[in-house]
Amino acid sequence: MDLFNRPDGLQDIRDKVIAGRRLTPEDGLRLFQTRDLNALASLADFANQRRNGRRASYILNRYINYSNYCILSCQFCAFSRKKRDNDGFQLTEEQMVAKAREALALGITELHIVGGLHPSLPFSHYTGFLRALKALDPRLQLKCFTAVEILHLAWLAKKSVRDTLLELKEAGLESLTGGGAEIFRKEVRSRIATGKESGAEYLEVHGTWHNLGGRSTCTMLYGHVESLEDRIDHLDQLRRQQDLSRGFTGFIPLPYQPENNGIPVPHAPSGFDQLRTIAVSRLYLDNIDHITAYWVGMGLKMAQIALSHGADDLHGTILEEHIFHMAGAKSPQMTAEADLVRAIREAGREPVQRNTFYEPIRVWGARPETDAAHATHAADRATPQATAAGSLG
Ligand code: SF4
Repeated sequence: MDLFNRPDGLQDIRDKVIAGRRLTPEDGLRLFQTRDLNALASLADFANQRRNGRRASYILNRYINYSNYCILSCQFCAFSRKKRDNDGFQLTEEQMVAKAREALALGITELHIVGGLHPSLPFSHYTGFLRALKALDPRLQLKCFTAVEILHLAWLAKKSVRDTLLELKEAGLESLTGGGAEIFRKEVRSRIATGKESGAEYLEVHGTWHNLGGRSTCTMLYGHVESLEDRIDHLDQLRRQQDLSRGFTGFIPLPYQPENNGIPVPHAPSGFDQLRTIAVSRLYLDNIDHITAYWVGMGLKMAQIALSHGADDLHGTILEEHIFHMAGAKSPQMTAEADLVRAIREAGREPVQRNTFYEPIRVWGARPETDAAHATHAADRATPQATAAGSLG
């Protein structure tokens, strides 16, 4: 059975996708509701390959959580702590620099930095660590802060969001992270993240950053108390924001992790649900170039399969993930570049090491023996402190 001839009741949607026409929310919902995962996968893979060819990317990055103290208490969050808790933590600037220095020696190109809304650190602490980290290597890309952290920092700085972002940019911020989007609809948001910024505020922070020339990613936390209609509404709001500000480089669907929090959901999203969510995201978000299969939440095996369901990116090496693991993720806290490259190749795609903005740093061949021919010299210029750890050894 081929892509163009399947008795799955989706022919009208297939015609739209092939013609490059935009899907409606009703189309998106029908895609979510189909049980024909193969039909959905082949359509999403078609859309992905038309946009990204056979390449699939990953990034050499390190996560740093500067603190888990937070003045909010989102119900789904297993990460945050209060000052009275004995397992809260807060890194000094020196500790952050030491972690970054270690990771630079392994060839990373990006630091991904988020934390809770700290009750007492001043705004100068944040600009201070951005400057100190950037001073390690000007090519090191700093992808930091969720939208709610930006609102918190603006409150600390007693400045507008725009002026706060400008000051952070001047200190070295290069991209916002996409975290904290959760599900935008108010009714769901109030059940999982009371007190957090609204969906409109999330989009406004990202839109302001985009209008300053910045780029960011965006996310959706799914598989908890939301409905499929809520997911489509979320994707639709992201698509509308992207029409306006054009700054989202990639979308990362985050499967909910159910442990150690106050939401009564018995298990993480099934494999079927994870793959259909990747596929519908690829088809619905026709103005966002990249869809990431986040291996921390899905596991690398499922993320690898997602490469034939519309995803074209596996995220990164990460080195030290806390947020998903404190909520029960069973994946390791880091992965090696060789494992990402192998997973991409085995899925029949060409591995590409990318930077924060999804631009290629190194293009590997489809097979190991073609690596030398494909390795770009640009990698030597673009990778901070490139070392043997960045190769497949
Ligand atoms: S999700 Fe973020 S804002 Fe909410 S409690 Fe956790 S750390 Fe704080």
